[in-house]
Amino acid sequence: MTTIHPLELENKEFEGENSAYLIDGGDETMLVDTGVSTPDVRVQLERELASNGCEPRDLDRILLTHWHQDHAGLAGELQAESGATVHVHEADAPMVRRNAGVESLLREKERARYESWGVPAGKDAELFEFLDSAAGKEERPPTDLVEFSDGDRFSVGDYTLRVVHTPGHTAGLSCFAFEGDTGPEAFVGDTILPVYTPNVGGADPRVDRPLERYLSSLDVLRELDLVRAWPGHRRPIGTPDERIRTIEHHHRERTERVVDVLETHGPADAWTVSAHLFGELHAIHILHGPGEAFAHLDHLDRHGVVEREDGEYALVEAPASLDDLF
Ligand SMILES: [Zn+2]
Ligand SMILES: [Zn+2]
Repeated sequence: MTTIHPLELENKEFEGENSAYLIDGGDETMLVDTGVSTPDVRVQLERELASNGCEPRDLDRILLTHWHQDHAGLAGELQAESGATVHVHEADAPMVRRNAGVESLLREKERARYESWGVPAGKDAELFEFLDSAAGKEERPPTDLVEFSDGDRFSVGDYTLRVVHTPGHTAGLSCFAFEGDTGPEAFVGDTILPVYTPNVGGADPRVDRPLERYLSSLDVLRELDLVRAWPGHRRPIGTPDERIRTIEHHHRERTERVVDVLETHGPADAWTVSAHLFGELHAIHILHGPGEAFAHLDHLDRHGVVEREDGEYALVEAPASLDDLF
């Protein structure tokens, strides 16, 4: 009998409480995601494992849905203690290894993006200060990381988990699909979440055409016909199809609002559009707000609805309908 145990972990800095998952396959024990690398969360994780009769050293395999600190943060520590193999999608592997070259390349990309979004100098300093002080900076990357790609399989007990690559939120974000007792299920990381809409555009500066990629990933997820999704934050989603529809609807509405902003206020950069949509932003939202605005402006740009000139987006013609974009 193979069982899934959700492990609830606190997370004050990012999208709210994390859910990691212990899969007890009898002879084998797998962990999906790890929580953020802080002493508190580490203690919590041990407590959650213990309440399911498990210790860190029992772990055989750790699968990561994506590179974000609140999902991959404790992977290195847990590996050091258990000797577990740690696996992540090939596109996110460099971010989990976090060697110096990758860190500075990421910062460069981030700076270039903020500049192109029109983020004012003071705000960009505030954001870098937040990122530098955010949890997980002390984390220890796994010394041995195994890369996977779409379609790869992992078995644990009665389950065979299949990697389904769903980029958008990050370049390597992946779901792990398996046949549950009543139908197909999947661990979905931040591909769909029960409360928030996962950030697209600001969460991984390496992703080109972020909204388009994310929307295709939702199509891929829909085709799995899931009866249940196990997200990277909060509780399981019992009607994944409905949640996918809600998120798509949300993006369509947001695109409509972006068009409205440009119609009312004239040409604007991503930062200005974000201010109209979200007001004043702090901490991680300085990244997520204009990132989200950028993702929608970029999507409109690629469909010829807006044109970008000197960093500002101008409406070419307000479309009668956004059907072609969604
Ligand atoms: Zn994430
Ligand atoms: Zn997350």
